[in-house]
Amino acid sequence: MMITIEDIRKAREAIAGVAKYTPVLTSKTLTERSGVEVYIKGEHLQTTGSFKIRGATNKVKKAFREGARHVIAASSGNHGQAVAFVAKTLGMKATVVVPENAAKAKVDAIRNYGAEIIYCGTTSHERIERAKAIAAEDGAVFIPPYDDPLIMAGQGTTGLEILEQVPDVSAIYVPVGGGGLISGVLTAVKESRPNVKVIGVEPELANDTQLSLKKGEPVTIAATETIADGLRTNKPGELTFPVLQKYLDDLVLVSEEEIKAALRFALERMKQLIEPSGCVSLAAVMKHKSDMPNEKVVALASGGNASLSQLGKWLEV
Ligand SMILES: *Cc1c(COP(=O)(O)O)cnc(C)c1O
Repeated sequence: MMITIEDIRKAREAIAGVAKYTPVLTSKTLTERSGVEVYIKGEHLQTTGSFKIRGATNKVKKAFREGARHVIAASSGNHGQAVAFVAKTLGMKATVVVPENAAKAKVDAIRNYGAEIIYCGTTSHERIERAKAIAAEDGAVFIPPYDDPLIMAGQGTTGLEILEQVPDVSAIYVPVGGGGLISGVLTAVKESRPNVKVIGVEPELANDTQLSLKKGEPVTIAATETIADGLRTNKPGELTFPVLQKYLDDLVLVSEEEIKAALRFALERMKQLIEPSGCVSLAAVMKHKSDMPNEKVVALASGGNASLSQLGKWLEV
């Protein structure tokens, strides 16, 4: 029941015109520093500021074709923005359930895309239950953030683009939260170019996937406060995890300090605003050990949404 590269090719057709074909950036300094040729897949420059628009578009469009006119998500972050944006594009109603303590800037961004906001509790469990209850009452379709075949296939389109943009890539570093992005990228890469390595990256403070791979089954960790807020999911998905077990080459951890150093580097040297969740791959590339001359390595910069006040805090020395 795993997704295939065919699902990802179909997703690519479905999302064309909504999601962008994002650029790949290079940095001379980073290349000199790390001893490999570094390429950065710029999903921080994506519509709504993250790759989440890819999966959301694939899933919401399918719901629309099947007659739905109302979608609902439970996310104060990039997934909420993506679902709100796609729904607006298709003329559908969107409801987004956010925690009572959600940052105002994030809620405003979601509201700006025309979604109705509902505040509920502080845990993702409470929000998901509420969203599903509203979906059942209202005939709305619930759009999950990662554990869904159409979401995974949509995120996987990033992998197809990377293989076209850097055809002789040898390794791709991908941030891991619930695993939607990396399971899609793994499927796209391993079912067409199995020799290309795909390496997951987690914050040390949110290493649920590392522990789960070791144990051979999904492990739940306690709530975490890593600055990479898109990677705070405390357990891999039921559909995503088997894809990682089957295909993942390696998983590396990065510290909060390493994430901040990567963020500062991107901003100062590359003039790119990449949010902490998107910087973990950059941080991992900075530690990549190469035994190949002219090796080409891609860091997937998954998003760029951050407020200036947050940035100020992260950049303080
Ligand atoms: C959601 C998100 C992630 C993690 O994606 P998963 O599919 O949950 O693994 C990484 N980076 C950013 C910027 C995100 O918004």
